[in-house]
Amino acid sequence: MSAGPERSCGACSLCCVVLRVDELAKLGGEPCRNLRAGGGCGIHERRPSICRAYHCLWLGGGLEDADRPDRLGAVLDVVALGETHRLEIREAEPGACDRSPRLRAIAERYRASMPVRISDVAAPLDPDAPFRVLLPDGEEQRVRGERVTVWRDGRQVSERRLPWLERQVRRLALAWRRRRLARRRAAA
Ligand code: SF4
Ligand code: SF4
Repeated sequence: MSAGPERSCGACSLCCVVLRVDELAKLGGEPCRNLRAGGGCGIHERRPSICRAYHCLWLGGGLEDADRPDRLGAVLDVVALGETHRLEIREAEPGACDRSPRLRAIAERYRASMPVRISDVAAPLDPDAPFRVLLPDGEEQRVRGERVTVWRDGRQVSERRLPWLERQVRRLALAWRRRRLARRRAAA
């Protein structure tokens, strides 16, 4: 979407597909209507401010040169959560992380110091869309809807329900996004 301090996006336009852009009523996972057929932004000079400001982890210099998102098959970001951080891996296709040794290696490296959340963009408005969280102590949480299964060393060790508050916040956030999206699309 933009140019980082030392890198430029080059042929990559993956975030213009994978990420959501509220200003354009664009869902995560659907190509932006301004994306040119050969890649690149068709409204570069007047693209929304969020597009101008966005730098994925690679563009900001946080990954190796060879790890450009279109080659990895995922857009990665380190996001601040209060005083802690989390690595977000948004897969362009479900299972990208499992298929890519390089993505797995990056996830394991970051996992040593922060949680790693892996999600795909197949169903951005589905409150039950699955995601995984890799924790530094070797635990993996697989969340689908309101159920969380906990895995260690490839074995499921427990299952529980998401806390009530977390379930409500998640559903309210998605309902609000769905309404706002419908309004923006009706106005477009
Ligand atoms: S995913 Fe990163 S490198 Fe690719 S277009 Fe977006 S900001 Fe640029
Ligand atoms: S407006 Fe341009 S930079 Fe923003 S998502 Fe669309 S194609 Fe990408």
